[in-house]
Amino acid sequence: LLSDDGTIAQTIFAEMTVLANRTGAVNLGQGFPDVDGPDYVKEAAKAAIDAGRNQYAPGDGVPELRHAIADHQRRRYGLDVDPDTEVLATTGATEALTAAILALTGPGDEVITLEPYYDSHAAAIAMAGATHVPVPLTADLRLDADALRAAATDRTAMILVNTPHNPTGTVLTRAELEQVAAVARERDTLVLTDEVYEHLVFDDAVHVPIATLPGMAERTLTVSSSGKTFSLTGWKVGWMHGPADLITAVRTLKQFMTYTSGSAFQPAIALALADEETPRALAASLAERRDLLCAGLERAGFDVVVPQGTYFVVADGAAHMERLGLEDGHELCLRLPELVGVVGVPVSAFCRPGSTAAQTMRSRVRFTFVKQPEVLRDGIERLAALT
Ligand code: PMP
Ligand code: GLN
Repeated sequence: LLSDDGTIAQTIFAEMTVLANRTGAVNLGQGFPDVDGPDYVKEAAKAAIDAGRNQYAPGDGVPELRHAIADHQRRRYGLDVDPDTEVLATTGATEALTAAILALTGPGDEVITLEPYYDSHAAAIAMAGATHVPVPLTADLRLDADALRAAATDRTAMILVNTPHNPTGTVLTRAELEQVAAVARERDTLVLTDEVYEHLVFDDAVHVPIATLPGMAERTLTVSSSGKTFSLTGWKVGWMHGPADLITAVRTLKQFMTYTSGSAFQPAIALALADEETPRALAASLAERRDLLCAGLERAGFDVVVPQGTYFVVADGAAHMERLGLEDGHELCLRLPELVGVVGVPVSAFCRPGSTAAQTMRSRVRFTFVKQPEVLRDGIERLAALT
């Protein structure tokens, strides 16, 4: 079951964070904010602890969180979600995704992802014993609808979508999502959608949940998490919603993964989910930090595709690799700390070894801009020494 292609191994984020800590490099690798979420949310968790909410929460999550998730989805997207039968609180989005893949796919099933894909997606598909069918994004990091259509077969059980997309920062447009939805309906597949960056979109980009498209709510499991939206990634309060029968299947499996988690954090996040200002302010500030990092990367000789969402920008380091005689982006990332004192993550880590996408992404590196401007300026100054 365990893959020999590195799908199930130490994550690239852990590897690069260890490297950053060991070398004292500026860590623009693993995506986590260097400023914590709002005080009132932290106070609410402390109050929940003091109020004695320290034992197991119900398996599907505390009622106020499930209601807050349903309210959030109705308010923002017009989605009609029953908080009692169609919502499941999870240990981060990671558990929701893994539990769904394990519950709903298995040997003989094909699961399509958009490549590069978030690493836990591939690991969960491998754990389920299903067949992973990655569909490469185009070189400019958009959906290749023809490739998607060509990849879908009668064995496709699930299409896994991630928008806003990690690692590329691509925000799929309604038109692109319509194309995914059309394939899902034609092939009668489930859709699992990872929307953890739903609030972190920039400029004119709009986050469209695929569950809002015609004929999709009945076949879609929507996953999100409070980690990114409220800068509390360590709390691991995530969730999933979708049709009751699918949620029941995932809940059944989740019982034996963690059963439940975060009994004091869940009510605090329930409170936070009514807050529209915190995520809006975060997105605005992230857009500025994106601009800062993108400009710095360009000055340092990288080609960037400006992202419309997430924490991340993908930058092409081909010129540096050639000059330094390096094989690929992974080698560049291993050398960057010693060369200039910066850590990034190779985009090839989000690709299947040897795939078309791995080739297209060979010289690309993902950098995060969810750091304070002075940290980004420090990183940019160091990177400039490459030129
Ligand atoms: N999906 C994507 C695309 C992510 O980037 C991340 C975390 N960075 C997750 C899922 C995991 O979220 P959580 O920490 O809530 O498990
Ligand atoms: N999702 C974060 C990232 O992409 C890291 C989460 C992790 O370390 N697994 O950087």
